[in-house]
Amino acid sequence: MKIFCIGRNYAEHARELQNEIPAKPVIFMKPATALLRDDADFYIPDFTNEVHHEVEIVLRIGKNGKHIAEKFAENYIDGIGLGIDFTARDVQNELKKSGLPWEIAKAFDNSAVIGNTFFTNNELNKNEINIELKKNGNTVQKGVSGDMIFSFAKIIAFISQYFTLNKGDLIYTGTPSGVGSVAVEDILEGYLNGQKMFQTKIK
Ligand code: ZN
Repeated sequence: MKIFCIGRNYAEHARELQNEIPAKPVIFMKPATALLRDDADFYIPDFTNEVHHEVEIVLRIGKNGKHIAEKFAENYIDGIGLGIDFTARDVQNELKKSGLPWEIAKAFDNSAVIGNTFFTNNELNKNEINIELKKNGNTVQKGVSGDMIFSFAKIIAFISQYFTLNKGDLIYTGTPSGVGSVAVEDILEGYLNGQKMFQTKIK
């Protein structure tokens, strides 16, 4: 399976990192070894001093497709869940400065938290999916899917121009503003429309 991630899909977040608002989706990938499931603890890797949380709506793909037209793209979603795209921000900033790829800052082991709960395509109004991340009980990130620059359908259509999408692939759809560092002993909890979707303790 493949994991795709969208960068800068909320204007507020693009601004907080002083990035331009993109005209096309920014895509990167993580390997399957990045997944962190079942509310497992997250261990801060020793190559970074600044891991940021990015809470994101995650689409699970339900059937194979290539060159998917935007008007049919939502038919390829079989689950809508929530996760975290953990980012070694200090490493990423160095790579960005040098114009190098982001993999070691973004795709390392356990960098993709995924909750076990997925809603079906028809259970949610795709413009009004409210997501929230709490750190030690306090809300640190909050967003609504209607504020995304690129809709789920646009993202799926775009990715499938370049990559065959397969059943079981995951797409992390970008993070709203409020990203920040995690520290040992922090507890992160993700919510979608008020329902708890995952938690992870930082070690
Ligand atoms: Zn992200």
